[in-house]
Amino acid sequence: MQGIDVALAQLSHRRANLPQIARLDQLRTERAEVDARRVQAQTRVSDLTADQEQADKEVANVRARRDRDQQRLDSGQVTNPKDLQSLQHELVALDRRIGSLEDAELEVMEELETAQAELDAATGDVAELDARITEETTELDKAASAIDADLAERRTERDATAQRVSDPLITLYDKVRAQHGGVGAAALRHKRCEGCRLEINGADLREIAATPDDEVLRCPECNRILIRTEDSDL
Ligand SMILES: [Zn+2]
Repeated sequence: MQGIDVALAQLSHRRANLPQIARLDQLRTERAEVDARRVQAQTRVSDLTADQEQADKEVANVRARRDRDQQRLDSGQVTNPKDLQSLQHELVALDRRIGSLEDAELEVMEELETAQAELDAATGDVAELDARITEETTELDKAASAIDADLAERRTERDATAQRVSDPLITLYDKVRAQHGGVGAAALRHKRCEGCRLEINGADLREIAATPDDEVLRCPECNRILIRTEDSDL
C-alpha cells in the first residue's frame, strides 16, 4: 500500500509539473507581449489613416481655392492692377501651401506604411503563437491523459489493497502518512527503519522480535508503522 501511495504521489507530482505546462506559460506570456505590440500598431495605423484622410481633405480644399483664383484670373474679369497683383500673390502663396501640405501628407503615408508593416508582422506573430499554444495544449492533454490512466489504475489497486487491511489500521496508516511527508509505513531492513533511516537499538529490536507477527509495530524513532521483512535481522 505504501508503495502504491508513493507511486500515486509521484504520478500526481509529474502531472502537476509536466514540461508542457511551463512551455504553455512561456508561450502565453510571449503572446500577451506580442498582442500588446499588435494593439499598439493597430492604434497607430488607425490614427495615421485618420491623419492621411485629413491631409487629403486639406489639400483638396486648398486646390479648389487655387482653381477658383486661377479661373478668376483667366476670365479677365479682374482688371484693377492692385486686385490683379493681390490675386497673383495669393496664387503663389496657395501653390506653396499645396506643396507643403503634400510633403506633410507624404510623410504621414510613409509612417502609415511602417506602422502597417509592424501591424502585419505582429498579427502574424500572434497567429503563429496561437498555433503553437494549440499544439502545446494538445500535447499537454495527451500527456495528462496518460498519467490520469496510470493514476486510475493505481487507485483501483489501492482500493483492492485497502480491502485487505483492517479499517483501524488504514486509519492509523493515513494519519501517520499525513504527519510524515507521505510515508506512513516503512520496512525494517538490517535493523534499520527505512522511514527515518535510523538503526533501532538492541533493546527495542529484542522487543520487536518478541512481538507477535500480526501485531502492528511502530518505529521507536519516527513512530511510523514498521513492517517486518525477511532481512530485518531480528
Ligand atoms: Zn523510523
